[in-house]
Amino acid sequence: MKTHGLHHVTAITGDAQRNLDFYTQVLGLRLVKKTVNFDDPSSYHFYFGDAFGTPGSILTFFVIPGARPGTRGTGEISATAYAIPGGSTGYWVERLKAYGVLTESISTRFGEEVIRLADPEGMIIELIATDKVPAPQGDRSAIPQWAENPVPVEHEIRSFHSVTASIGRVPSTTRLLTDVLGYKLVGEESERTRYTAPGTDGLPGHPFDVLATPGMQRGRQSAGSVHHVALRLKDDAEQQAWLSRLASNGYRTSPVMDRMYFHSIYFRDHSGILFELATNPPGFTHDETVETLGTTLRLPPGLEGARRQIEGMLPPITPFVSEVAPAL
Ligand code: ZN
Repeated sequence: MKTHGLHHVTAITGDAQRNLDFYTQVLGLRLVKKTVNFDDPSSYHFYFGDAFGTPGSILTFFVIPGARPGTRGTGEISATAYAIPGGSTGYWVERLKAYGVLTESISTRFGEEVIRLADPEGMIIELIATDKVPAPQGDRSAIPQWAENPVPVEHEIRSFHSVTASIGRVPSTTRLLTDVLGYKLVGEESERTRYTAPGTDGLPGHPFDVLATPGMQRGRQSAGSVHHVALRLKDDAEQQAWLSRLASNGYRTSPVMDRMYFHSIYFRDHSGILFELATNPPGFTHDETVETLGTTLRLPPGLEGARRQIEGMLPPITPFVSEVAPAL
C-alpha cells in the first residue's frame, strides 16, 4: 500500500483579490479552479496549480473575508515548498525583490538551494532549486490564459517540492509517516528530518520534512495558515484499503467525501495536523477543458440550483491584472 507524495495543500486567506494576484502574478501559478467552499458556499475556494491542474502542484485557499493573520507554531504545516529548475534561483530572487516580497537570504537544505518567502499574509512559501522538476507539458500558446503567464517557461513552478511540519513532540508524527503511511527516513539536518513517500516516481513532491520545535507555542490557524495537507492516491480502491489500514492503526477517519475533482478521506495526526488522502481521478478537467480551467465559477451539482444567490454573495474578483506586474 502506497501514498504517492503530495496531492494538494489547502490554506486560508482573508483577502481573495490579493491572494489571487500574488499566486498568479508573482508566483506565476495558474488559477485552475474557481469554486466555493462546499461546506460554506458563501465563500470562494481557489485552486492554483500548473497549467494542467496536475495533482502535486495544487495549492488551494479557503477565502474567509477579513480573517486576520494566524500565528506560526507547532502542530501545523509551517512551510510549503515548490520545486524550481536548478539554475533559476537568481531569476526568482530578482523577481521577488521587484515585487517587494519579503524573503530570507538563500540557504542550503540537503544540498539544494532554498528561497524562503512570505506571501502577503505571512504564509511561508519556499522555492527549492532541484534537478527533479517535471518537464514542461503541452503547448503553452494553446492555452490563452496560460500563454500570458508572467514567468518564463524555463523558470516556472511546475510542482511542489515538499512540505515542512513543525512538531512539538515528534514521535507520533514520525510513527504515522513511517509505520502507517510507509514513508522512509532519508536524511537529518539539525532539527529537520526528511522522509519520502513510498510511491516514488522520480518527481518532486515526495519529501515530507519534520521540524522538531519543542519549545514553540501551538500555531493559531487563520489567514496565512495551512489548513490541511493532502497526499495522493491512485484510485478509489487504494482509498478503501487506506480506510481500513488507518482504522486498524487507531486513526478516526472521515467517510469518503466527493470533492468533485478528487475523492477524499481525512484524519488528524496526534500532533494536530489534519491529513487528507485524495485520489488522482477524476481531476480538474472533470467539468472544464484544459483551455478553460479556472475561468468560470464551478459549483457542485447540489449547489447549481442556488447559483444566482451564491454569485450574489461572492465578492467580484479580477482574475488577471497585468498592470500590477513591474517590468522584469
Ligand atoms: Zn483538501
